[in-house]
Amino acid sequence: MADVMTVRGPVPPSELGRVMPHEHLLSLTPGPWLTTGTRDDRIDLAVGALAGLEARGFGTVVDLSPYGVVGRDPDGAEIAMLAEISERSGLHIVSGTALYLEAYAPAWAREATLDELTARFVADAVDGIGGSGIRAGIFGEQATSLGEITPFEDRVLRAVARAHRETGLAIMTHTTHGTMAHEQVDLLASEGVDLDRVVIGHLDTQLSVDLARSILDRGALIAVDTIGKEVWDFFLEPAAERPDGEFPKRSFARSDRGRVEFVAELVADGYADRIVLAQDLTGAEVWMNPGTHGQLGYAHLADRFLPALAAHGVPEDAIERMTARTPARLLEVGA
Ligand SMILES: [Zn+2]
Repeated sequence: MADVMTVRGPVPPSELGRVMPHEHLLSLTPGPWLTTGTRDDRIDLAVGALAGLEARGFGTVVDLSPYGVVGRDPDGAEIAMLAEISERSGLHIVSGTALYLEAYAPAWAREATLDELTARFVADAVDGIGGSGIRAGIFGEQATSLGEITPFEDRVLRAVARAHRETGLAIMTHTTHGTMAHEQVDLLASEGVDLDRVVIGHLDTQLSVDLARSILDRGALIAVDTIGKEVWDFFLEPAAERPDGEFPKRSFARSDRGRVEFVAELVADGYADRIVLAQDLTGAEVWMNPGTHGQLGYAHLADRFLPALAAHGVPEDAIERMTARTPARLLEVGA
């Protein structure tokens, strides 16, 4: 029986509606890595932020938060909050499980062997995350660094690949600025992963149609999943290790107009079934992008981006594929 594993149990893929496949529901307060605040605050914020989605045809949000960052606690002990958000918002929520960049990884993960990491991810999918009984429905966002895959990141991506082979769950990745995309595909392919179950993430941070095509032509999917993030700063090291004074930081600007042209070109080339769309919204980006996330929150995709795609000649059927059919197919396990 092919179902989608949500935080409140299995759901038939036909019930998902449109899907936002890469969000972080417990990180909506300002600060990209904030995990403080009371439990109720964070649940209330998420329920409020999700309130308009159902009327716009979206029935499902995927929380793709790795252990220890963007609202996910280091052990996954708070995962029941997602079930509460699902219940109160009326939306289906699917939880990912993953580890982020090496610098942000919890101690247990840095010390774990490949076999231990694989066993942990399998258990997340089969038994539940953090002993909660709430099962992961996808692996991700599994991350690699800017311009390199560290030995730790190699080990974790391999563990996700092996857990995928055991459980069938799809894999969504985080590339930093679109770098190491081919290396991620190389590693996953070398582990025998079905590339039709892999989404290479954040390729709209690069907006290179040539890069996107070259990934798609190897059989993986891509995510245009930072929609609305037109300005973005990030630090290259965790805050705890950052001294006063000067520190390494990168900034980038990517316009949604550029994203519209990027998606329209790929759809015109026949890739409508190989692309998913998301905002990757966190509290920090709300502040940094007042004109998009700040004004419209999760409605930005439905209210501004999808109409802009249509105005740019992207057919309604292609929009339906990218927002509903493809994510549903990815989330469906055991088909
Ligand atoms: Zn993300």
